Amino acid sequence: MSIEVDLNGKMLLRLDVVSSHVIPPMMGWAGEVKAGQFIRVIDPRGRQCADFWAFNAEDIDEHLSAMHSRVWVNKLCPVPGESFHSNHRRPILQVIADSCGVHDLLTAPCDEHRYRLYGLKHHHRSCAGNLREVMEPYFGTTRFYVPQPFNIFGNCPVGRDGSVTNGPAPSKPGDHVVMKAWIDLVVAISACPQEFNPISGWYPTEVLVEVLEPSAEQPG
Ligand SMILES: [Zn+2]
Repeated sequence: MSIEVDLNGKMLLRLDVVSSHVIPPMMGWAGEVKAGQFIRVIDPRGRQCADFWAFNAEDIDEHLSAMHSRVWVNKLCPVPGESFHSNHRRPILQVIADSCGVHDLLTAPCDEHRYRLYGLKHHHRSCAGNLREVMEPYFGTTRFYVPQPFNIFGNCPVGRDGSVTNGPAPSKPGDHVVMKAWIDLVVAISACPQEFNPISGWYPTEVLVEVLEPSAEQPG
C-alpha cells in the first residue's frame, strides 16, 4: 500500500507503507524509524490526542525537545516544512504534512500523579506510564526522565491574556500528521487515556501508526 503526500501544492511524494500498527484505546506503541523513513500518525475516529516522543536510537539522553523546537522555529509548534529539534539542538524530525493543524507543544503528558489528583484510588493508565511501558524493549526498565511530548491533535489554545486552556481535539476521522526522520529514532506514541477532561472528547479511542519509505516510482 502507498499514499501520496502533497508537499507544497506543486509536488506529490509517494510513500510505501513498511508497517502499520493499531494502538488500542489508552495504550502505547514504540518502534524504530530509520533516518530517511517517515511516520504517519492517524486519528481514525476523530477527537483523539496522541502523545508523541522521539529518541535518538543510539542515545536515550537525546530526544525531541519541545523547548528547543519552539525557539528554533519561533512559534508554538513546527508546521509542515519545519523540524522538531532535539535537546542537543539539531533537527531530528521534519513535519511533512498535517491535515489538522491543531497540536500542543506546551503541556505535560498525563501521568500517575494527574490521576491521583482526581482522587482515583485505583491505577489508571497514563501517557507517561504508556511511554515507560513501551520503551522497555529498547532502553530497559530504567526510570528515565519523561520529556514533554508533541501532543498531536492536542487543543490547548493560548489566549491574548496568556491563558492556556484545553478543549476537545478538533481532529476529524482520518486526520493525520506525516513526519520524516533525520536520524535513526525510537518513536513512542500514547493513545491518550485522559477521560476526565475534554482533550480526547471524554472518550479515549485508538490511534493508527504507519512507518513509510519513499516509493521507487514517484508521480511525474
Ligand atoms: Zn494523556
